[in-house]
Amino acid sequence: MPRPISATVSIPAMRHNLALARARARGRFVWAVVKANGYGHGLANAARGFAAADGLALVEFDGASQLRREGWAGPVLMLEGAFEQADVEQAARERLSLVVHEERQVDWLATMPPHAQIDVFLKFNSGMNRLGFRHDAFRAAFARISGLPTVGRVALMTHFANADLDGGTDDAMRRFEDAAAGLQAGWSLANSAATLQLPGTHGDAVRPGVMLYGATPFGEGDARSLGLRPTMRLESRLIAVQQLEPGDAVGYGSTFRTGRPMRIGVVACGYADGYPRHAPSGTPIAVDGVRTVTVGRVAMDMLMVDLEPVPGARPGSAVELWGDIVPIDAVARASGTIGYELMCALAQRVPVHVEDGAAS
Ligand SMILES: *Cc1c(COP(=O)(O)O)cnc(C)c1O
Repeated sequence: MPRPISATVSIPAMRHNLALARARARGRFVWAVVKANGYGHGLANAARGFAAADGLALVEFDGASQLRREGWAGPVLMLEGAFEQADVEQAARERLSLVVHEERQVDWLATMPPHAQIDVFLKFNSGMNRLGFRHDAFRAAFARISGLPTVGRVALMTHFANADLDGGTDDAMRRFEDAAAGLQAGWSLANSAATLQLPGTHGDAVRPGVMLYGATPFGEGDARSLGLRPTMRLESRLIAVQQLEPGDAVGYGSTFRTGRPMRIGVVACGYADGYPRHAPSGTPIAVDGVRTVTVGRVAMDMLMVDLEPVPGARPGSAVELWGDIVPIDAVARASGTIGYELMCALAQRVPVHVEDGAAS
């Protein structure tokens, strides 16, 4: 008998979220970002859920090969570009578009046989200071790349450090527009936050990621209020129930103590399943469809919940860690992190079921 924990990925919810991104992008090319194993949903599941995207974007070259093997014939964009010359050769073979953010990557392109014809997204450093060329180097790299016989189309891109903040892209946009002035190429700038709320950044192609997985890119609110649907449900069951007396402690470190008689449930889910160990007592969780809270420290394989709002709960009762009743954004916020991290951290040992069809 396997442990009762499982994750369920909803293909209809992914389709719905992609359609919402597409509506916001009003006709622009939509790259669905599927890096990090489809934000923890499984790369094949992401490719299925986002089959209607114009292209798929990721950072893993083995993932790109998997997409091709499994039949994705559309555009693929490698968001960190090549890590070595062999990646450029793979890009030519498998028709992958490459971000170019570094001089070395231009050199690799230059040494390819001239029939290669690789599409390039030249990356501008608009203030994040992570990847990309600054103004003069950007324009010089554009000139050099455009002259290479091995390069097909060239587009210009940047990635915002603060698209989730009010006015957070103003300075970056100014710098980008300055650097891009007069260059004949399409633009791709917008992540989820910019796709959702900054039409002025949409350019020619948007690159939504987290919104497609039903989590918010913003520091407040949750995805449902943006019209998005959760794409991942993490569920388990109670495997024990304890009746506590006032003053009893719960879990490692005895960080939670009861002030009254209390029933608590023990859930077969811990940090080795990807649930955040930093989730404090009071983190939302649902038992038998009823919202309640966690108590005590999250352990490797188990965590505990207050059963007061669910008097009928007993061993075997269903638990939702996050999904339809408990937004992943709420668990993330309680734990001092973001929905992105929780979905990406889903552990290998958790079996993933896929929900398809009209039901959702
Ligand atoms: C991950 C990533 C995105 C998607 O970002 P979200 O915040 O998940 O929408 C877009 N562009 C680049 C370059 C990325 O690395």
